[in-house]
Amino acid sequence: MDHFVFSPPMVSAIPVAGGGLFPVRRIFCVGRNYAEHVREMGGDPDREDPFFFTKPADAVVIEGAATPYPPATSDLHHEMELVVAIGAGGAEIDGAHALDHIFGYAAGLDMTRRDLQAAAKKAGRPWDMSKGFDHSAPIGDIAPAATIGHPASGLIELTVNGKVRQSSDLAKMIWTVPETIAYLSRQVRLCAGDLIMTGTPEGVAAVVKGDVLEGRIAGVGSVRTQIT
Ligand code: MN
Repeated sequence: MDHFVFSPPMVSAIPVAGGGLFPVRRIFCVGRNYAEHVREMGGDPDREDPFFFTKPADAVVIEGAATPYPPATSDLHHEMELVVAIGAGGAEIDGAHALDHIFGYAAGLDMTRRDLQAAAKKAGRPWDMSKGFDHSAPIGDIAPAATIGHPASGLIELTVNGKVRQSSDLAKMIWTVPETIAYLSRQVRLCAGDLIMTGTPEGVAAVVKGDVLEGRIAGVGSVRTQIT
């Protein structure tokens, strides 16, 4: 039997509230999913189809761990987001059955090298290096849907050094979680272990070394990291 020429990487994993580890397969992210954030980025929040970008699975930073300030940027931004953890895969999932595919939810941060993103947008180039860099996805413990249900509304908030930076409500998402799963599963076959970061509300801004980021989503949980 053939063997690996070096040891395969460890599986990226996130602790589950109540016990166990959720193995991360892929991280999909929704762009422009709260109207006020679309406006603050200079866009038009008309209900255009959702679009997606990705981060590598090993970009995850687990609850309480430090987030190193990344290279190649001087404008690192926070984006506080609800994270959906897929427990059962599928393609062309009907919105009416989408919730059946969800294992649980978490609070997460879509960290963004905003200067690289602006340059990529201007040049019509891919967003990968602005979104999918090392340590770009701090994510709190995953709360199983079996315990918390499926939150469609409730406070989503981020503080930096104790001051509120982002505060909104999950109900303000342009595309709901079931709609997002329906769209995304027509682009790719979703698999157990996939995460979907569902977009950020308004209030995105820069962070610097030493900042402590604490996010919470009512009924879901929290995420905490310090930029080092
Ligand atoms: Mn985002």
